[in-house]
Amino acid sequence: MTKHQPWDKVAPVLHAGQRVFGENRVQEAMERWAGPRSEYADLELRLIGPLQTNKAREAVAFFDVIETLDREKLAGVLAEEIQRAGRAPRLYVQVNTGEEPQKAGIAPGEADGFIARLRGEYGLLVEGLMCIPPAEEEPAMHFALLARIAARNGLEKLSMGMTQDFETAIRFGATSVRIGSAIFGERA
Ligand SMILES: *Cc1c(COP(=O)(O)O)cnc(C)c1O
Repeated sequence: MTKHQPWDKVAPVLHAGQRVFGENRVQEAMERWAGPRSEYADLELRLIGPLQTNKAREAVAFFDVIETLDREKLAGVLAEEIQRAGRAPRLYVQVNTGEEPQKAGIAPGEADGFIARLRGEYGLLVEGLMCIPPAEEEPAMHFALLARIAARNGLEKLSMGMTQDFETAIRFGATSVRIGSAIFGERA
């Protein structure tokens, strides 16, 4: 996760061979990565921040993966933009495992229905699930919950775990972890 990190922190990691990067703002990501993107064919850029529908076109054109599909309206707009662009980023559904009102994501109890509608009504291919557990809670139960929702919906990819809890996340089946400060240092 390179959000809010200066390029002089990011560049050495890119040059050392890391190719998958997460950003949480569409505009910031495009400004930063448009150049490197043309130089590194194997770069994989993931949007791991809230996506407004008016940025969906740019996000579909630019990102390889969008991890924050979190509501019905966005599903509709993404489906349209994917159709229009003839290009489909891989999609993760964000699940609000802690049902926190201030956090984005589909409630766990609504996830099955949402995933079914993405596949049926919207014709979207879903690759996996993503969650950000509540900061003050033991993350293990949230990771376990995400893994259960994925399993019963036939999804193999789980984006979960950050600097503080990635080891637990891996134990519970994370297929990608999102590490920021442990690699790049504290954010500005
Ligand atoms: C910033 C961010 C991370 C990385 O957090 P660290 O604690 O610095 O590893 C992971 N996931 C999301 C969604 C983030 O916004």
